[in-house]
Amino acid sequence: MADLVIIWVVGTALFGLIIGSFLNVLIYRLNTEGSPSPFFGRSFCPHCQHVLNWFDLVPIFSFISLNGRCRYCRSPIGLRYPTVELVTALSFAAVALYTGIQAPLLLAENLILTAVLILIFFSDWIFGLIPDEAVIMLGLLGLAAHIGNGEELALAFSSGLVFASLFALLIVLTRGRGMGWGDVKLVLVMSLVLGWPNILLALWLGFVAGGIVSLTLVLLQRKKFNETIALGPFLVLGTAVAYFYGPTIISAFFRLYPH
Ligand SMILES: [Zn+2]
Repeated sequence: MADLVIIWVVGTALFGLIIGSFLNVLIYRLNTEGSPSPFFGRSFCPHCQHVLNWFDLVPIFSFISLNGRCRYCRSPIGLRYPTVELVTALSFAAVALYTGIQAPLLLAENLILTAVLILIFFSDWIFGLIPDEAVIMLGLLGLAAHIGNGEELALAFSSGLVFASLFALLIVLTRGRGMGWGDVKLVLVMSLVLGWPNILLALWLGFVAGGIVSLTLVLLQRKKFNETIALGPFLVLGTAVAYFYGPTIISAFFRLYPH
């Protein structure tokens, strides 16, 4: 049994490397104007436009064997390429362990959610943009999660509307500093995926993590106090924790503070 679990987890991690490599294409093409469709056209070096061969595109391995430089023009390849691949592989392994071997449909759902969250995380981190395609995907996952439970869906949707309106109000009041319309759309579909009261936990975790990182960057003098960092990556982290551990955390909280 232990052997089977190891094969299962390693297999899912290798699959994650391939998906991570595809996410790199999406992160670049969905956020760069004039890019070809992510599903068509060969990958090319963004510096010299040279079309890449399959052996230039082996996840992690190509980056290491090329010493982090393009084979054709020797421009440095962004560290984000192997990072996204590695993060996706490790996340997929963790999701495989968490979901177990008996529930293939749930595994598929969890892996798709993880991939979309990684896409949003790095899009917002690198480009300061949350692609609408990713938001729509998350919304569809949220709707699928509530099939057959209209009451739950109504609650998830209405809490999403409330938080999205609050975000929109904050954007108007602060004149768009710190938050963007991408965050408004994100919080709406986060609510669909997480439902009530899990969305509350995700937002709380996101704001606390974002606050700690901002403060650390200011203290390290990497950022000035009035500079802002993207909120999306922290909302994504909050969503992941709340999705996989929300019910555990919330019930532990109510055991600590019985009412
Ligand atoms: Zn090149």
